[in-house]
Amino acid sequence: MNIHEYQAKELLKARGVPVLNGGVAYTAEEAAEVAKKLPGPVYVVKAQIHAGGRGKGGGVKVVKSVDEVKDTAQNMLGMQLVTHQTGPQGQEVRRVYIEEGCDIARELYLGLLIDRATSRVTVMASTEGGVEIEEVAAKTPEKILKVVVDPAVGLQAFQGRQIAFGLGLEGKQVGKCVALLSKMYDAFIGLDASIVEINPLVVTGAGDVIPLDAKMNFDDNALFRHKNVEELRDVSEEDPAEQRAKDHELNYVKLTGNIGCMVNGAGLAMATMDIIKLYGGDPANFLDVGGGATKERVAEAFRIILSDPNVEGILVNIFGGIMRCDVIAEGVITAARELGMTMPLVVRLEGTNVDKGKKLLKESGLNIIAADNLADAAQKVVSTVKAEAA
Ligand code: GDP
Ligand code: MN
Repeated sequence: MNIHEYQAKELLKARGVPVLNGGVAYTAEEAAEVAKKLPGPVYVVKAQIHAGGRGKGGGVKVVKSVDEVKDTAQNMLGMQLVTHQTGPQGQEVRRVYIEEGCDIARELYLGLLIDRATSRVTVMASTEGGVEIEEVAAKTPEKILKVVVDPAVGLQAFQGRQIAFGLGLEGKQVGKCVALLSKMYDAFIGLDASIVEINPLVVTGAGDVIPLDAKMNFDDNALFRHKNVEELRDVSEEDPAEQRAKDHELNYVKLTGNIGCMVNGAGLAMATMDIIKLYGGDPANFLDVGGGATKERVAEAFRIILSDPNVEGILVNIFGGIMRCDVIAEGVITAARELGMTMPLVVRLEGTNVDKGKKLLKESGLNIIAADNLADAAQKVVSTVKAEAA
C-alpha cells in the first residue's frame, strides 16, 4: 500500500524525524488557513497524489504570500496532474499539502528498500537527489551508494556515517544524517514498510539536513498489524479494478499487455505470464482466482479482466484441485454471455470435474478455443490475438 507525502511525513515526524511545518488541505480556503499558521514569507503548495515526478508536472509550486497559496491551491485542486508515473490521463489532485518554504543548497537522495537479490534491507544514497533515482541508476550507477543491513544487528552507526560521508556531508550534518537514517530504519522495520524514500533530502543554506519529500510503501500482508497505517489508505488513488478484485477476494494486479489471464494459484499464474511472454505475447494482468472460488466470484473475475480496455484476448488456465473445472466453466459462461464477449478465449482446463467443465463450455455456444496443455494454450492465445490485430 502506498500513502501520500504528507502522511509519510507525519509518520516520520512521530518518530522524531525533523520535517518542515505544514498541513493538508482539501479546499483553497483550507489551504489559506494552513498557510496563515506558517511563518512565511515563502510557502510551497504540493499536489498530493500517489505518484512521483510532481515537480516536473506542475504539482509543486513555490509562492510568496497567503493569497498566492490560495490561488495556487485553487488551480491545483481538481486538475489532472500528469507525471511520468501517472500515465497520459494523469491523476486527479484531491488534496494539497502546504509547507513552509526552504532554502535549498544541495539536493540528495536517501532511500531504504528491500533488495531481493540479497533479501536484505538496503540503504541507497546519492548526491544526485531531486531527480528520478532510476535515471541516476541507469546513466551514472557509480553515483549510487549502497549499504546492506544485516537484519540480526540492524543498521549500524558506522554504516550511517559511511552514507553521510559518501553524500559529502560535513561537521554536524554527519550526525544529523546518521540520526535520520536510524529513524528511517526504525520506521521501515517497525511499520513493515517496503520502501522509505526521501528525495530530495536537502542541505539548506544554513547547513541543516531536512527531508523535503517522503515516500512510503507498505507490505499489504502486514497491514493488519498496523491499523494506524491502514487508515491512511486513499482508495481514490488506487486502481478501481484492483479495488474491486480485493472486495471479491481476488488476487488481481493490472499490467500493461493485451492478453487477459485467469488462473488458479499464484504459482501457476506466474508461470502462465512467463509462458505468454515466451511465445511473444504480453499479459494484461496477473489474476489468481484462488482455490475455493464460487461461480459468482469467477464471473466477477472475468468481468474485471474484460473491464480493461487493453485486453484483446483471454487465456483461462485452470488446474482444478480444490477448484472445480465445472464451476470455472459456469462462471466464464455467465460473464461472457452477460457482456456479449467476442474476443478470442483460449481455455485450458485440467483436474477435478474437467469433463463436466469442457462439456459446459462446448455446449455454451461461445467461441472458445480449447487447448491441451499450458504451452499449447499460450501459443494459441498469442497467435490468435496477433492474427486478429493484423
Ligand atoms: P516530486 O517531484 O513528486 O518528487 O516532488 P518533490 O517533493 O520531490 O518536489 C520536487 C522538487 O521541488 C524538489 O526536488 C525541489 O527542487 C522543489 N521543492 C520542493 N519543496 C521546495 C521548497 O520548499 N522550496 C524550494 N525552493 N523548492 C522546493
Ligand atoms: Mn521527490
